[in-house]
Amino acid sequence: MPSYQAPVADVLFLLNDVLRMQDHDDLAGYAEASPDIVVAVLDEAAKLAGQQLQPVNLSGDQEGCRRAADGSVQTPKGFKAAYDAYAEGGWIGLAFDPAYGGQGLPYLLAAAVSEFFISANMSLSMYPGLTAGAAAALLTHGSEELKRLYAPKMLEGRWTGTMNLTEPHCGTDLGLLKTRATRRDDGSFSLTGQKIFISAGEHDLTENIVHLVLARIEGAPAGVKGISLFVAPKFLLDAAGNPSEKNAVSCGSIEHKMGIHGNSTCVMNYDGAQGWLVGEENRGLNAMFVMMNEARLMVGVQGLAQSEVAYQNAASYARERLQGRALTGAKSPEKPADSLLVHPDIRRILLEIRAFNEAGRAFALWLALQSDIAHRSPDAKAREKAADLLGLMTPVLKGVLTDRGFDNCVKAQQVFGGHGYIVEWGMEQFVRDARIAQIYEGANGIQALDLVGRKLPANGGRAITAFLTEVGAFLKANDGDEALKPLLGPLSASLGHLQKATLWLMQNALAAPDNAGAAATDYMHLLGLTALGYMWAKIAKAAFADADPARADFLQAKRACALFHAERILPETALRLARIQTGAGVTMSLPAELF
Ligand SMILES: Cc1cc2nc3c(=O)[nH]c(=O)nc-3n(C[C@H](O)[C@H](O)[C@H](O)COP(=O)(O)OP(=O)(O)OC[C@H]3O[C@@H](n4cnc5c(N)ncnc54)[C@H](O)[C@@H]3O)c2cc1C
Repeated sequence: MPSYQAPVADVLFLLNDVLRMQDHDDLAGYAEASPDIVVAVLDEAAKLAGQQLQPVNLSGDQEGCRRAADGSVQTPKGFKAAYDAYAEGGWIGLAFDPAYGGQGLPYLLAAAVSEFFISANMSLSMYPGLTAGAAAALLTHGSEELKRLYAPKMLEGRWTGTMNLTEPHCGTDLGLLKTRATRRDDGSFSLTGQKIFISAGEHDLTENIVHLVLARIEGAPAGVKGISLFVAPKFLLDAAGNPSEKNAVSCGSIEHKMGIHGNSTCVMNYDGAQGWLVGEENRGLNAMFVMMNEARLMVGVQGLAQSEVAYQNAASYARERLQGRALTGAKSPEKPADSLLVHPDIRRILLEIRAFNEAGRAFALWLALQSDIAHRSPDAKAREKAADLLGLMTPVLKGVLTDRGFDNCVKAQQVFGGHGYIVEWGMEQFVRDARIAQIYEGANGIQALDLVGRKLPANGGRAITAFLTEVGAFLKANDGDEALKPLLGPLSASLGHLQKATLWLMQNALAAPDNAGAAATDYMHLLGLTALGYMWAKIAKAAFADADPARADFLQAKRACALFHAERILPETALRLARIQTGAGVTMSLPAELF
């Protein structure tokens, strides 16, 4: 059986020493998040993750969801009790506006605890995770009436939320979508069409499900400019706002899939279902983007969370498993063999994962802080810079953390040898569960295109300039720091690669867009690696400044991982730059019929 321990100490170190959340009292909700509250929140989240969510992860995977002939869907045994504990803890509304039932705490904290929940049970955490995303979209774009009707019940966890974009013939290219919305006399709409792959579309956890649905109002323009967003509950609401009559939406089937078996993936049939417009007509994609951006951050954290739990299990297996002898002579001569940890290649695997996890966590939390600054700061300039960084880095966090997160799960599985392939150890589940995060919420290739095609050139390159300037200023400010020197040299080299790649794209992509398409994934990883290197430099600076003997082991590990990242991982940016600079020539030269 796999195990999981939430990394509370690491999160506290990041919040207090690296990101210094205590210096951000000007952000709404931060004054309320006193050090005591932060510790209490993290401890409670760790308890929920370890005691309620994790124990039903493996069994939930094996049992999966089941659909009955009447269209109802049963989640695995124990999911309902675990979900109820999650909802009762107030976790869904942690960072939401108290006027709608939230607790008004920093989103930074919500992001931190979401990693714990996902590591413990990715399938289960998707039900409340999607609910938070749907509530955010309603609160940003819905009318006051819709907000009052839906948001409090969703934040309380009494109702869950879904996002309905995908149709059989369209996933990435939403301009093709066919679901129709017809006006009714009372101002609402009738929705007709089929959506596929809808996560948490039907289940037995709550008394109602709130579907956010993209559809085209009759007569609307073709393409993405004719798409509107609607809210359509599973049960229509009576005058008091309680679920009553069943709406004309049903689950036609559920998918049998590679992973996340505990989360129902549904075909949803809308047969004239009653729905209400959210936001403006034909501006649905814009409204849905609130949910999608929120969900992209959550999916990025899924990559990290699976990598973390896989690492924890691989590290403890490597400590226990006796196999072979150290190349330098027996380390445990009294035992029949040394532990796997004596082997440099096993250490390489573990350190590659850990050096990614700890910087990935810092990156996710740094971005969550940018989100709080962008939405809550009283200072307009600070808001603008943070919004720029958030927009630029959201596809990077999603794409890089999930690509590397999946790779890391495979690496951690490798530490187990053949046992990693056997179900009871849980490692193959981490691999299967992590895989979807690279695909949904916009496949990673699309994240890379979004970065290169939209985010990079926006506002004359203001966001990437802000990032390059911030890292450059950090390097300059710490120039004479001898302890940081081994990290700053490689970071400076990576920053140079990023600058060259950005310039190359500016000079070569406008006239020949295939150059941008061929470079996109490498550029996303180059930017992501540099961001992770920057995070390690910030982490190391805080760690080097701390001589607390009570956490000497913790700080020693930080220093080792920082150095490992600088020496063994960051040099990959040179490779990424070299690939980018080759352009699209060879890639596009092979005629289609020869594939
Ligand atoms: C388990 C699961 C859960 C899901 N949950 C939801 C959900 O809750 N709600 C929802 O609406 N959808 C959901 N999805 C759908 C998911 O978001 C889509 O599968 C995904 O966006 C890709 O769309 P597609 O499958 O149609 O692939 P396609 O769009 O056909 O793309 C196929 C491949 O081509 C690439 N590609 C496509 N267009 C381009 C282009 N212009 N340039 C370069 N590359 C391109 C893509 O990156 C991808 O690798 C889920 C899917 C799964 C499997």
